[in-house]
Amino acid sequence: MSHDPDPHPPAPKHKEVDPGDDDITQKSKRQRRAQTIPDVKGPDQFPRSEFSKCFTTAKAKIKKDGGFHEYQMGGAEKACTTVTMPGGAQKKFGTKDNMHSEMGATKSLLESRHLTLIDVGYGVLTVGGEEYEPTPDTFQTDVPHCGYCAIILTLFDLPLSVPTQGKFHFSSHLNYPIPEDFKRPRIILAALFCGDRPAFETFIAREFFKDGTEVAIDVNADTIKDEGGWGDGLTKFFNEKVRAGQHFCTRAEFVWKCFFNYLNVNLKPEDF
Ligand SMILES: [Zn+2]
Repeated sequence: MSHDPDPHPPAPKHKEVDPGDDDITQKSKRQRRAQTIPDVKGPDQFPRSEFSKCFTTAKAKIKKDGGFHEYQMGGAEKACTTVTMPGGAQKKFGTKDNMHSEMGATKSLLESRHLTLIDVGYGVLTVGGEEYEPTPDTFQTDVPHCGYCAIILTLFDLPLSVPTQGKFHFSSHLNYPIPEDFKRPRIILAALFCGDRPAFETFIAREFFKDGTEVAIDVNADTIKDEGGWGDGLTKFFNEKVRAGQHFCTRAEFVWKCFFNYLNVNLKPEDF
């Protein structure tokens, strides 16, 4: 197993959706343009500097809390995250279908409403309730976290066991499944862009519109508009499918894949 990022050769920067695909020819030119997105392969092609703020913030927090440790290869496959409830009952989560144990535990706690995500503007807080409080004792992983989990848990203010900057091979297409709640537009804006709306709009304009279109996001009304008045609910916009490589994903998942690309380039496993 190597530390190298995805070994596939870089793909062309832009990929047009085949006009023969589904009913795209029936759609407006503007909608068609919005479905034109780059391939997610070739992580070095896209600096995507909009993520630098949240990445730097998370890294600084980890360093302040004790710093990174050495990555143990293959830990992601063997990891077990144990969630302990107040009465002492424990639930164990292993890495399953590429979802790392930390994300599996978080997904389960969010779905059972034991955890709630709170958008605090500059970031996201993950809070517990009467039945469960996330602490280093109640949310424990038995092997060091890979760099992806370490940064993401930190961005969501969840407890860390042993953080590293380790990279692992994505099976394909940056396959690192995350809880559905992480894909909500406002949560993406808060967690991955530190609530920096101009950075978020710049990213959306570049990745989804391409042609210098002005994008204005009204967070209160949950809309996204370009200069021509094309508007849509932000949630609906983010739920629509785009093509990434040869695979379709939602726009929300695409933003996350861009973030994973950014991590691939910027994590430094040798730095601890
Ligand atoms: Zn991990």
